[in-house]
Amino acid sequence: MSLIVQKYGGSSVGSVARIHAVATQIDALAGKGHQVAVVVSAMGDTTDRLVELAREVCPEPDARELDALLATGEMVSTALVAMALNQLGRKARSWNALQLPIETTAHAGRARIERVEATGLKKDLAGGVVPVVAGFQGRAEGGDLTTIGRGGSDTTAVALAVVLEADECQILTDVDGVYTTDPRMVPEARRLPCVSFEEMLELAGQGSRVLHLRSVEFAARYGMKLRVLSSFEPGPGTLICQEDPRVEAPVVSGIAFNRDEAVITVAGVPHEPGVAHAILKPISHGAIEVDMIVVNTAHEKSVDFSFTVHRDDYQQALELTREAAARYRGASVTGDDRVAKVAVVGSGMRSHAGVATRLFEALFIESINVRLVSTSEIKISVLVAEKDLERAVRALHRAYGLDVAVSH
Ligand code: ADP
Ligand code: ASP
Ligand code: MG
Repeated sequence: MSLIVQKYGGSSVGSVARIHAVATQIDALAGKGHQVAVVVSAMGDTTDRLVELAREVCPEPDARELDALLATGEMVSTALVAMALNQLGRKARSWNALQLPIETTAHAGRARIERVEATGLKKDLAGGVVPVVAGFQGRAEGGDLTTIGRGGSDTTAVALAVVLEADECQILTDVDGVYTTDPRMVPEARRLPCVSFEEMLELAGQGSRVLHLRSVEFAARYGMKLRVLSSFEPGPGTLICQEDPRVEAPVVSGIAFNRDEAVITVAGVPHEPGVAHAILKPISHGAIEVDMIVVNTAHEKSVDFSFTVHRDDYQQALELTREAAARYRGASVTGDDRVAKVAVVGSGMRSHAGVATRLFEALFIESINVRLVSTSEIKISVLVAEKDLERAVRALHRAYGLDVAVSH
């Protein structure tokens, strides 16, 4: 008998029919003698609709109230899935983050899970009850509801799996595994039977939304077995594993991309220690994540300095940067929020030369300009105009031999 945590995403519980289908699957798994704890997301595009609703009421809703609103989405689906299970004769109970509780930091909209109280869940599991837990939400000190970032239910599931010492955490979604790139954009993409944690961390970090980044971090840190499966059809899915078992790992395993980028450039700041710190400090104090950073020292006395942030943070970051740069005479701040990032990822990159050359060649053939570049040992990412994104992803997918072989 194993203890399995299953997480069902929005489209997997997007209708009454889907809720019944999911309940049937959970019931079948429990019927095989496994202990099952379930995490669910809000139904379909509920979270998007709630965000829109809030903005209709108020263009810049209060962060605390927005979290209180968004958390309701997951509460609806937990209760419905528990009802559907009960109707099948399988005892189940819904849990929200206040009830358990799932304790988080107080950063509204981007809180971090600090502790999961598992007593109630363990009691349920021991008593043959399937606990159905609301993903994405938490409770800050003092009792406020928080949310942990879009796509965060994956992280709730892994956190639960870790505290329950589950044998496996399964992420059930609308694709049957992790692909070489988003199969919705590139139909030639292939499912990967397994991906190493280090590659999955890069893919998720660079925007591949099939797994929430922190869920991969948690699973890697605690050695939790993590698998991505389809909730619509049976199959082996993709296992996130310690190491790629292939003898010769491909140079590039996958391509991730993120549309929601914005770039800010500060030109003409003095070339002296502490400038980057002075400009980036207010941004980090505003809890805004900075991604790519490039310092261009082409001139002797002054430097140009560019960095990227999430598009949602663009206006705030731009204002903070303007304030910070005001102390330097002659400095100018410009920005562009119609940019996107593409990243090629692969452990095989470590031992291969020419990976970057192939990337630049493929983009050159497509006449795509590269705005910024950043690299890690196993990743190269480039910033391009948003309008070029799709062509860039397709060209790179082809250039690194990832397209599915077409039989003639
Ligand atoms: P859920 O609601 O189940 O959490 P998400 O929409 O968050 O589902 O994530 C699944 C989606 O991730 C897929 O529908 C797919 O479009 C997208 N995706 C992006 N990159 C990949 C990839 N490399 N492999 C598979 N799916 C990907
Ligand atoms: N419902 C939340 C969202 O849409 C969390 C999730 O789906 O994981 O972002
Ligand atoms: Mg998701």
